[in-house]
Amino acid sequence: MSAVFKALNPKSANALQFPCRQCGAVLKYAPGTTHLLCEHCGTENVIELRSEKIAEYDLRQALQQLAETPTTTAAAPTIHCEECGAGFQFEAKNHAGECPFCGTPIVATTGQIKPIQPKSLLPFGIDQANARQRFQQWITGLWFAPNAVKKYARSDTKLSGVYLPFWTFDSHTATTYSGERGDVYYVQERVQVVRNNRLVTETRQVPKIRWTPVSGRVQRFFDDVLVGASNSLPRKILDALQPWDLHNLIPYDENYLSGFRSEYYQVELADGFDLARQVMDNQIYADICRDIGGDHQRIHQVNTQHSGTTYKHCLLPVWSAAFRYRDKSYRFVVNGRTGKVQGERPYSPWKIVFACVAALLLAAGAYYYLEQSGALDNQQTHPVTIQPYPYRQPLDYNSFQN
Ligand SMILES: [Zn+2]
Ligand SMILES: [Zn+2]
Repeated sequence: MSAVFKALNPKSANALQFPCRQCGAVLKYAPGTTHLLCEHCGTENVIELRSEKIAEYDLRQALQQLAETPTTTAAAPTIHCEECGAGFQFEAKNHAGECPFCGTPIVATTGQIKPIQPKSLLPFGIDQANARQRFQQWITGLWFAPNAVKKYARSDTKLSGVYLPFWTFDSHTATTYSGERGDVYYVQERVQVVRNNRLVTETRQVPKIRWTPVSGRVQRFFDDVLVGASNSLPRKILDALQPWDLHNLIPYDENYLSGFRSEYYQVELADGFDLARQVMDNQIYADICRDIGGDHQRIHQVNTQHSGTTYKHCLLPVWSAAFRYRDKSYRFVVNGRTGKVQGERPYSPWKIVFACVAALLLAAGAYYYLEQSGALDNQQTHPVTIQPYPYRQPLDYNSFQN
């Protein structure tokens, strides 16, 4: 299936609002449900589920089309609020949020700004109160967090609900490799050691590694390798929000965005695939090591072919906020489906110092005990091989096979 590319018109975007069918008031999507709830009259306005299938799109074709699409400057389009008549612009990365003049939820259509449209999403599953509770549990459970922060977390933290853009990639990979397999064997060696102030000769088992050249082939199908396409949060935090229940993705529908912020993708498709390839390469590297077998592995050359590579562009829900502590801002996010919390956190230096002192005392005690009992005398050292970092091929999109 090919992606649909529309002519871009960054000047204007259609602003959508969702009026209550009972009283006309503007509606917000209610997390965990399939309706928009009217805060005015209480009517539940049911969202009809679109019957479209969640499709995978051919990556090579999309990259070719993108290369042919003229790039436009990403100017924020003017939005017109029907509620108060104001004209305004969202922050350049957003296409849904509130009218800054009257607070009415507005969702702008995305077609005019970005060549690739979100085609699916996971709606918010947990509401703000629930997300705040998860955050409080998280911060109170943190080791080494200053007490002031834990206390702060008990107060009312305002969280904002955001739909973040993601890419997912599927790919069949076939990899040929060459390297070496290392097998450990032991030889007996006589060594001189000092025992009770006397020099004595002892026999020891010394490990050695026998390396033999190997080559082979591994293959793997990757399904839904997820890459965050937002620059609003550090990638470490974005990645750590996984897992997501992507099998529950539903067709994109602006109704679910009403009352929330939503971002355009800021990481381009090609860059997104580069990040996905790093995830895949790590897995392939592990596959190769397993394929080589033995006690140690060295990998010299790796050649991976991708075929049938497809992508999806979807939106996933997070609750996010920042808190300030000692003039520094710490961000955290809550997965809007599972409630899993990820974030930056302050450390209490005093708590860490005490813990380190306690750990050192414990270690010193253990060492003293082991030395007294003689357990340290006949230890075998184990050989360590430094693994070279997996060789990365430069990506050539023309080398894709269909
Ligand atoms: Zn109403
Ligand atoms: Zn307004």
